Amino acid sequence: MPALAGSVTVFTNVRVFDGKATTLSPPTTVTVRGNSIAAIGEAPVDLPADARVIDGAGRTLMPGLIDAHTHMIYTLPSQSRILTRDLGYLNVVATRAAHEMLLRGFTSVRDTGGPVFGLKQAIDEGVVSGPRIWPSGLSISQTGGHGDFRMPNEVAADDHGHAEMLGAVADSPEEVQQEVRRQLALGATQIKLMAGGGVASPFDPLDVTQYSPAELRAAVEAAANWDTYVTVHAYTPGAIRQAVEAGVKSVEHGHLIDEPTAQLMAAKGTWIVLQAFFDDEDAVPFPAGSASRAKQLEMIKGTDNAYGLVKKHRLKLAWGSDTLFDPKLASRQGGQLAKLATWFTPGEVLRIATGQNAELLAMSGKRNPYPGRIGVVEAGALADLILVDGDPTRDLALITTPETSFLVIMKDGRIVKDITGNGLPVR
Ligand SMILES: [Zn+2]
Repeated sequence: MPALAGSVTVFTNVRVFDGKATTLSPPTTVTVRGNSIAAIGEAPVDLPADARVIDGAGRTLMPGLIDAHTHMIYTLPSQSRILTRDLGYLNVVATRAAHEMLLRGFTSVRDTGGPVFGLKQAIDEGVVSGPRIWPSGLSISQTGGHGDFRMPNEVAADDHGHAEMLGAVADSPEEVQQEVRRQLALGATQIKLMAGGGVASPFDPLDVTQYSPAELRAAVEAAANWDTYVTVHAYTPGAIRQAVEAGVKSVEHGHLIDEPTAQLMAAKGTWIVLQAFFDDEDAVPFPAGSASRAKQLEMIKGTDNAYGLVKKHRLKLAWGSDTLFDPKLASRQGGQLAKLATWFTPGEVLRIATGQNAELLAMSGKRNPYPGRIGVVEAGALADLILVDGDPTRDLALITTPETSFLVIMKDGRIVKDITGNGLPVR
């Protein structure tokens, strides 16, 4: 959508959570001009007559939240629907997922696997509403890996038809490199490879290491040639180690990480995008007694240990919800983030989901589709903002009730929600 070049919005009397510090500023004024933050402090004197002034009344203004591990196309439909419905239907459902995500205050997401390029384009053009998307395109998997969701008879026949919905199957360095190039050509901002056993996938036990060093290096090289990076799905020390040694810059999940592997990641500066998975009401629903359910329970056992190692070795930590297959789970996006309070202060949790996650997104280098800073409130940054009815650095639960707690949500300088009751129409 074209930016509102001349539009001005002024937030007065707001305490700013800036995405860098873990505490709030004294009351101040934040001025948005067009799609970026023009000034913090005194309101400019040359305000146009149609400038919109929002009285913050001492409330908190913070950056839009960032979810660094989403699957926009797979968020709402069940796994069986994803495998049996056509992409047209799935895209329509995904537009709803995207709209709802934005209204939960998530103004940017990194999509870690899925045919999401069309949705991203439609959002960027203003056809539908949703967050900024850093797409990986289809995740790339070896035969029988975490992205191979074919039926057993299709695997037996080496029929690649089904693979296109939940992953692209590529074996050998040449095939992997070709698949990386295909996703980059379609607009991928980073590349997602499946480097170890997964929970939802039918063929691979959790313990297996996927791909060879040569295949991983081929992907890393093809991504680096496009000034971007490879991130991998991996839970186990073996899978993580092989991938990190091959040059991947980020590990998704990592729940079963051990001490030596954490040391390796610290030495290499590798990111870990870890979820606060517990066996609770927010666990992705798999049938009791199924192989996926057993793998899920095994993985969840590692959660607390993994966060302990992240803190001990000061790993570069990002957060993403990895919400899948269920509307109720999707609605709990802020709630899943709030669980990080098990290990971090509320201010630290908010910083992870704003400034810190933005640093991970910046790893996309010249493939960043939205030039400008996000995840921070500072002069010159893109105007993705939330006006919160309270102080989330003291009461983190505010992020779990966005429908009432988030009074204003702004993305790219445009107000997408305003319930401050100032009488102005919501645009
Ligand atoms: Zn995922």
